[in-house]
Amino acid sequence: MSEQTPASGHLVNGPADPEHDPKASYALEPDYVANLTRRVISTTGATVAVESPLNGQPLAHIPQSSAVDVAEAYARARRAQVTWARTSIDDRAAMLLRLHDLVLDRQEEIIDLIVLESGKARKHAYDEPMHIALTARYYGRTAHEHLDPQRKIGVVPALTRVEVNRIPKGVVGIISPWNYPFTMALCDGLPALLAGNTVVTKPDAQTMLSALLGAQLLEEAGFPEGVWNVVAGPGREIGTPMIQRSDYVCFTGSTATGRLIASQCADRLIGASLELGGKNPILILRDANLEKAAEGAVRAAFSNAGQLCVSVERMFVADQIYDRFVQRFVARTQAMTLGSSMEWGVDMGSLISQAQLETVQAHVDDAVAKGARVLAGGRARPDLGPFFFEPTILEGVTPDMTCFGDETFGPVVALYRFHDEADAVARANAGEYGLNASIYTQDGARGRAIAREITCGTVNINEAFGATFASIDSPMGGMRQSGMGRRQGSEGIHRYTESQSVATQRLVRFAPMLGMSDETYAKVMTTQLRLLKKLGRA
Ligand code: NAD
Repeated sequence: MSEQTPASGHLVNGPADPEHDPKASYALEPDYVANLTRRVISTTGATVAVESPLNGQPLAHIPQSSAVDVAEAYARARRAQVTWARTSIDDRAAMLLRLHDLVLDRQEEIIDLIVLESGKARKHAYDEPMHIALTARYYGRTAHEHLDPQRKIGVVPALTRVEVNRIPKGVVGIISPWNYPFTMALCDGLPALLAGNTVVTKPDAQTMLSALLGAQLLEEAGFPEGVWNVVAGPGREIGTPMIQRSDYVCFTGSTATGRLIASQCADRLIGASLELGGKNPILILRDANLEKAAEGAVRAAFSNAGQLCVSVERMFVADQIYDRFVQRFVARTQAMTLGSSMEWGVDMGSLISQAQLETVQAHVDDAVAKGARVLAGGRARPDLGPFFFEPTILEGVTPDMTCFGDETFGPVVALYRFHDEADAVARANAGEYGLNASIYTQDGARGRAIAREITCGTVNINEAFGATFASIDSPMGGMRQSGMGRRQGSEGIHRYTESQSVATQRLVRFAPMLGMSDETYAKVMTTQLRLLKKLGRA
């Protein structure tokens, strides 16, 4: 294996000089692809070709599922769920911990596939197996804490014993996007499985291979047949047949699609968690460490080429430090290396598709035409690959420009000055979204006080987004139009369960006893209520 060949060895040709040859030919071994694609439940005979955004070269043909195939996937999942729900929590947790090890052992292969399929830089692809390892370890290690029956306060002290059970919902439908194709396809499913549910998942059509590798690793970790089922096809065609058969739906994607899914779930009175879009703000306060803030701002805005739900697109900078901060931020952005490469050492990769490139270009063109200034970037880079766009910093963005309030979902950030922190918070809270925010300050207590004023589901202080995203014990999700429900933490697993209260009553009953009249019973009960309050009982 040459130094330039990716470590997993599943690519038949690597280029001699991948960093400087965008037309380099990468291809996957046919048997490797066939072993992944056979996991799609499909009888249609139809396939859809996928190409690598790195260079436009064909990667695989993905079998497509019909509504009948979706029904078959749910039938398999429902059969498997009966046995799966009886598998002990310890056994289920052990499979998650095996998945943790497998993902770390096979990370080079996983990263190769993600880079090939999404075009992202290798360092951004690394975040995906890391996030799955963190999620698998967290839920594997905390399974009993979330799922064991919990004792609650009974109405009559010592005589009413109450416990709450966590009953799996049944079959969970998961619909995931392309931007983090490995972790978004898997991370929400791990707590669903641990809680005793089975899953039918529909990953995005552009990134099925990474999701199918996830399915293979689950199998290798010991999850039995029928527990994890994959279907493929356009969401607008097979989304509805999925929702019609699901007991719960977990969706990650755009706010527009989230609304459609929520209304279909409402019709069936089933629950849904929706992880949607954002127009995320960063606040650089006047006491921020400028070097650290500029370094964090680059990651906040340009990680995964800005195709990240928690990515920052609005940057509010205190007047007193504005010029010094902007000079550092622009310099760091201009120093970024872009490249079409499977190797480490590239700071930003490609966008996923022509459609993404067109949206990003349209947002920048619109802003410039209406008077915004480009401080860095601003251009597509077809010399690097078909969908490359430079990391772009805009100044002078006004409410009449599309990128003022609409999510770009690309490497474009707008800079705004502020004088008064209350005004910065109000502007950060403006608009319809409320996913993620970031605050840079050397005063942690002040940062945390400001965080409480911000209407976003996660707030990172002196970090871009990774601190909340990777802290799996705490919930992650959106306020307002950025979503409903939370992934991660106890909320991330309890969404997949019904809580069931079981009360065992001893000695006394909830009716008059020993010939007591209803009136006397009511008096005795009232006296007891007064007494319990005096005793400090909840
Ligand atoms: P999208 O809504 O178009 O697609 C997401 C998924 O939904 C895909 O699998 C797609 O096939 C499916 N889908 C599309 N139409 C459907 C329908 N009518 N019924 C059922 N399924 C359907 O989103 P996208 O543009 O591909 O993804 C980017 C968006 O996702 C951005 O807005 C981004 O902010 C958001 N996102 C949010 C998070 C989060 O955790 N909050 C994470 C990643 C991406």
